[in-house]
Amino acid sequence: MLPDLENLAAKAQSKKRDFKALAQRMKKLKPQKADEVFRQLHKEAFEHIDCLACANCCKGLGPRLTEADIARLASALKMKTAVFMDTYLRIDEDGDNVFQSMPCPFLPEDNYCVVYASRPRACRAYPHTDQKNIKSILSLCVRNTETCPAVYRIFENLPSQLP
Ligand code: SF4
Ligand code: SF4
Repeated sequence: MLPDLENLAAKAQSKKRDFKALAQRMKKLKPQKADEVFRQLHKEAFEHIDCLACANCCKGLGPRLTEADIARLASALKMKTAVFMDTYLRIDEDGDNVFQSMPCPFLPEDNYCVVYASRPRACRAYPHTDQKNIKSILSLCVRNTETCPAVYRIFENLPSQLP
C-alpha cells in the first residue's frame, strides 16, 4: 500500500493530543502486556504498509551511526574508514555521527537501500515499535507518527487494544 506521506506530518500533529493520551493509557499496562499489544499492532501495520513505497525515514530522519556501523559500511564500500567518514558523515549537535545530508546518500530512486546488508543498526531497528520495553519509548513513538505511516497506523488502531 502507498501511504499518504504528503499529509502524514500534518495529520499526526493534529492528533498529537489524542496520541499522547493513548501513550498515557499504555503506561498503565504491565510491561509484557504493553510489548504484546505493540508487537501485534506493528505486525498488522506492516502487513498493510510497504516500506519500499515509503522510505520516509530514509528521506528525512537518518540514523545515528555507531563505530561498528561505520566500520561495516566502509568495509562494504571498500573505503578506508576515515575516507568514508569524510565523504558521508558529519557530527551533529549531540556529538553523534550522522549523514551529511538527507535524503540518505544510499537511497536510490527505487527506494532499495544500496547498502541494505550493511545498513546501520538504527535503520534496522526503526520504527522500534516491536522492541522490548516499549513503555520506555512511547514519547519517541508519538513523535514518529509524523514520519512513519506504520507508527501512525499503530496509534490509530491502539484504542481497540486497550482496556
Ligand atoms: S519504517 Fe516507516 S517511515 Fe520507514 S519506510 Fe517503513 S513505513 Fe516508511
Ligand atoms: S542506510 Fe539504507 S536504510 Fe539506512 S537511511 Fe540510508 S537508505 Fe535508509
